[in-house]
Amino acid sequence: MKYSIRMRAAQGGPHERGGDHISGAERIVSESNLPTMAEQLVQRALHHSKGKADFINITIDGLADNAIHYIKAPNIITHEVTTKEDGWCTAQALLGQFGIAPQAVERAFVELCSLTQSMRGAMLIDATTGERLDNLGHRGVRVTHMDMDDEDGTIATLRARNLSNVHVREAVVLSAKVLSAPGIVGELCWSDDPDYQVGYVSGDNEYHRITKMKDLGSPIGGRVFFVKSVADMHAIIEYLQHTPVLVRFE
Ligand code: AMP
Repeated sequence: MKYSIRMRAAQGGPHERGGDHISGAERIVSESNLPTMAEQLVQRALHHSKGKADFINITIDGLADNAIHYIKAPNIITHEVTTKEDGWCTAQALLGQFGIAPQAVERAFVELCSLTQSMRGAMLIDATTGERLDNLGHRGVRVTHMDMDDEDGTIATLRARNLSNVHVREAVVLSAKVLSAPGIVGELCWSDDPDYQVGYVSGDNEYHRITKMKDLGSPIGGRVFFVKSVADMHAIIEYLQHTPVLVRFE
């Protein structure tokens, strides 16, 4: 049996009582690795560039081996851009190539740009009409129960391509799970880490890192998942939140 271990941290009290989100992370590990992992996640919550957490929640649950889905990581492609505006143009063109309608792309940018604080999860937007489909407001849909299948191998593979940082690893794992969900055709993301300007779009089993998607120093990030009009929203949200997934990098 493996275990899903998840951390969420906030400042000013728990998220559900209005605390500001500081950090969240998760892994899927064996029983013997649980104590070490719990400590690493607590350390991470306590030392974040967004500030010091005064609320930290760690949740652990067991996963039956036959419940775990194994999926392939998308191909990673990097686009070097010099300004955020160039980054947005690149992202918009790629989302169009994934079949996402211009009004849906525009809605996604309008929604992300009008955030006054980071969301904790993602918005689900109809890939044709641009309508927001989840009713989850500022919380959005949080994808959980995911990790790399082979940590050492993944780190070596990514390091060989100069992509060793934790942001990339976690974002590619998340994006692999999102793209494997029934009915999702693409994703748009930029980080809420004030020191990290890189964002990405994904679709068609490709993950496109774009080196500037927001202003340095901005603590506001967000994610949009683009969903086919005919998709079963309940099935998508259930898969994203509960199906355990391990991602294989080749
Ligand atoms: P990050 O890439 O961790 O800096 O997160 C950027 C934004 O993506 C956050 O502000 C959230 O809106 C969203 N996000 C982060 N983690 C998740 C997740 N596990 N599921 C869905 N959305 C997430």
